Amino acid sequence: MLDIYFDSFDLIVKRYLEQAERHVRIAVAWINFRMFEDSFSALLRKGVALEIVVDAGPLNQRYHTDIQALEDKGASVTFCAMPHKRAIMHNKFCVIDGAWALAGSYNWTQNATANNYESLTVTDDSRVIGKFLEEFEHLKQPARPVQIEPIFPVPQTGGSLLNVYFRNFEEVIKTRLKSARKRVRIAVAWLNFGLFFEDFAGLLSRGVRLEIVISYQRFNLWADNMEKIKALRRIGATVKLLAMPTARMYMHHKFCLIDGALALEGSCNWTQNGLYRNAEFLMETNSPLLIEKLRFEFENLKKSEKSYVQYLQQRSCCEDCHAPILNFCILEEDEPSITDVVYHTQVSVYARCDCSTKKISELFVDRSLFDGLMSMGDRYDDDLYPVGWEELQELLSAEIPDRGGAYLTDEERQQWIQFDTAKYLHSLDGSLSDYQIHAVGVEGSRLYGRHDEEFFVAILWKNRFRASEIENEYDRDEFYHLY
Ligand SMILES: [Zn+2]
Repeated sequence: MLDIYFDSFDLIVKRYLEQAERHVRIAVAWINFRMFEDSFSALLRKGVALEIVVDAGPLNQRYHTDIQALEDKGASVTFCAMPHKRAIMHNKFCVIDGAWALAGSYNWTQNATANNYESLTVTDDSRVIGKFLEEFEHLKQPARPVQIEPIFPVPQTGGSLLNVYFRNFEEVIKTRLKSARKRVRIAVAWLNFGLFFEDFAGLLSRGVRLEIVISYQRFNLWADNMEKIKALRRIGATVKLLAMPTARMYMHHKFCLIDGALALEGSCNWTQNGLYRNAEFLMETNSPLLIEKLRFEFENLKKSEKSYVQYLQQRSCCEDCHAPILNFCILEEDEPSITDVVYHTQVSVYARCDCSTKKISELFVDRSLFDGLMSMGDRYDDDLYPVGWEELQELLSAEIPDRGGAYLTDEERQQWIQFDTAKYLHSLDGSLSDYQIHAVGVEGSRLYGRHDEEFFVAILWKNRFRASEIENEYDRDEFYHLY
């Protein structure tokens, strides 16, 4: 299993922690220990060995009392101080029972959960997990010398690649950039253009399209960096500095796509500290699903503006219970009446807070909306390639690598359907209702026992900045009195 997520990070982390039975090892630069207090305590009560490594700097020190309490209950917390004075333990990975690794740009903080553009990859790949575990031991004694691993060869036809590096980042990145033939997309929070100028110019001179999104933050704005950006723009590069609503919010990604054939994603920014001094990781894969999800994310970043992020993040609270109000859009196939043979898609919007759920809007649109949604799975019905795979390839400008006739597993098919559905709903953003929508769902049902049917609302799309406040599924009764 391999997948990548762009929202609901704390929910995902907590869900995996809950499943742990033996040991949990966490190496994350910054953790809000209060946010994860319940999960950590539950693990220790179950007798799970909990080991945590965080950066030794001041940000984690403020949780001193919480950490002390955790250690009293049996956890081991190491403050990792790097040999170089300005370096930090900047990793963001976690291994559960040696069976799952969660790793990405996501620090386990409130800000990263609700305000930033982030990613989190989950895998059960045993080789990669083994390497994370080895690195975890190293982080407990960071002064110990380590061997530099050679760069992994990219499989030429059909084979899949998933690898992780803990040193040697510059060489990995530059080798992969050199292999690009058509197009490179880079979304990295902090990028020192001086370190990559020759490589970027080389790509452009070979006719490779180069698009870069970085964070509109002080580090990127220093004069020399801006000069290099201008020079690259003159020779054809697209460089966007993405501003967030406040200076404390970040476009925090650290990923790069090479020709739609390879994705690099990790904790390291493309800076002196990120590449040479900090403790970091860098994963690479040729997984078509991850590449396509990152490509879609990149296109969203290109369209994203401060005002749009502000709109997505805005909150309104209930006057009675003071809890935030979230608007749920629920799609249903309209019941045909005797006189009316035309089916419609019923689009209902419910405003929910802690004290009430109100239907605030209802409209009927062409049934193709519902059909479109329901047919998402159809093109993956075939056991070989999904039906329509060629059109999909065309849509994605033929960037999906030929997997040599590889079969999609049931799990992979499910992942593609979920992603296509979310993408489809994302494209309808704003056109479903005059109200701001925080989640879109459809009614589903499942049998339990022999004859009993259970009705629920499955959430298919969430506003990423409010996603942590939204479950993946609701009991239909939560909206029941309104049906
Ligand atoms: Zn209320």
